[in-house]
Amino acid sequence: MAQGGTVRNQGLGSWPARRARMSPANVAIWYEDQVTTFAELDERVTTLAGRLRALGIGRGDRVAYLGPNHPSYLEVLFAAGVLGAVFVPLNFRLTVGELDEILVDCAAKIVIYGEGMDEKIAGLDRKRCAVRPLACTELDGIGRADLPPDEHVSLEDVCLILYTSGTTGKPKGVMLTHGNLTWNCFNAIVESDVASDERALIVAPLFHAAALGMTCLPVLLKGGAAFLVPSFAPDTVLELIERERITVMFGVPTMFEMMARQPRWADADLSSVRRLVCGGAPIRSATLRRYLDRGLHFAQGYGLTETAAGVLMLDSAHLHAKAGSVGVPSFFTDVRVVDADRLEAPSGVPGEIVVSGPNVMRGYWGKPDATEEVFEDGWFRTGDVGVVDEDGYFFIVDRSKNVIISGGENVYPAEVEAVLRDMDGIADCVVIGVADDKWGEIGKALVVADPDARITDAEVLAQLRLRLAKYKVPKYVQFVDALPTTASGKIARSEVRRRYGAGERTT
Ligand code: AMP
Repeated sequence: MAQGGTVRNQGLGSWPARRARMSPANVAIWYEDQVTTFAELDERVTTLAGRLRALGIGRGDRVAYLGPNHPSYLEVLFAAGVLGAVFVPLNFRLTVGELDEILVDCAAKIVIYGEGMDEKIAGLDRKRCAVRPLACTELDGIGRADLPPDEHVSLEDVCLILYTSGTTGKPKGVMLTHGNLTWNCFNAIVESDVASDERALIVAPLFHAAALGMTCLPVLLKGGAAFLVPSFAPDTVLELIERERITVMFGVPTMFEMMARQPRWADADLSSVRRLVCGGAPIRSATLRRYLDRGLHFAQGYGLTETAAGVLMLDSAHLHAKAGSVGVPSFFTDVRVVDADRLEAPSGVPGEIVVSGPNVMRGYWGKPDATEEVFEDGWFRTGDVGVVDEDGYFFIVDRSKNVIISGGENVYPAEVEAVLRDMDGIADCVVIGVADDKWGEIGKALVVADPDARITDAEVLAQLRLRLAKYKVPKYVQFVDALPTTASGKIARSEVRRRYGAGERTT
């Protein structure tokens, strides 16, 4: 970072150095028994940036990362930021084919991978994606090149590309700038009083905007510590909160449900917790009550990857008076409900939720048409249907976009249907979400088989599992004679949901 004069790097890449200047001895990252202070993080990030530089990475290059939560994830994110490169975190639950598609789409130069990822990396189609794989453990062996004198990185530069499958079934890369992420942190800090002695448990996967944006980055920006956990086990999380005196945790509803069902729940000492933040999907009021009854401060948030991530937030103080609400807009973000004529809807009248603010994405990587579709007069269209009450509190009433939210992961029926349609013996199909106590929603496929086909539900599921990440594979498959259609011949999804909204579990 420049000493005096103009600030050259305003982006996330400068955070470790700035923090090392302000609070060098504060713990930044904990992982198992490894503790890294901000001074050490700064040192590691600078060294790593020099190594990436030696590997030919520079401004604008895409650096992908594949692996569960681990200090390397944050080190690579910040080191890419030092160079003005773009960080592309990948969901490690995707299949090799799905990963190939993303790496080709963003033309990543390098993919750095963590423990347990060797098989996926070995399976990548290197003819399709000209990406260089490198294990985290190999990074130390790379010689360091000199860093260019203070790379200029502005808040407008793209920092991250986060992939979502999207309603068309094709992966779309959400481009988030350094500014988007920084302003999201300001929102979180303002509404949640993030403190410099925070000890945040980061158990939701960091390749999702919510885990990164709701707690991890705001806490690091304030000089607090991120305790990284590679995978979610409800019992272990309760134990960690108790042992490590965790002050804040973000999770999806399924995580909080599972934690409250553990035998140790009743005796777990949660007295260190200042705030639990839940988002990604609605939480059941019965679950919420279990936390509130223990006197815990529980905030519920609504947001999207495209908004990096927070948009609306409801804190404990208003949970009773405004039950079922997702709260009020974040400080720097404006939110509206618009009717079918695209005019602001009066309170109580449902319409599409649109968002404007410094945390709203730049657009979809390489997809100007898709970007244009979601912006309207500077407002980002969420595809969610909501109402706002007279006090300015928002409620989500429906989703106009076709997505199933299962255990916090978004599953786009279009993507699953495309794979089903590709199978021999399937004439027609549709995938819908059905309610589930544990996962919120789970997928159900309705399949019309070809007249002479002898395909079974087990075969359908086995084929889906080969091509899609496990969380995307429907839990139920039901064969039907025909699917209801609209006058224009499209599948009538709402009618399908009405008729087949419950079913027999086949997995
Ligand atoms: P993602 O881009 O994966 O973060 O998914 C964003 C979508 O999740 C939103 O468009 C909503 O449909 C849904 N969502 C997020 N938070 C909530 C919430 N608190 N309640 C209901 N739906 C939510």
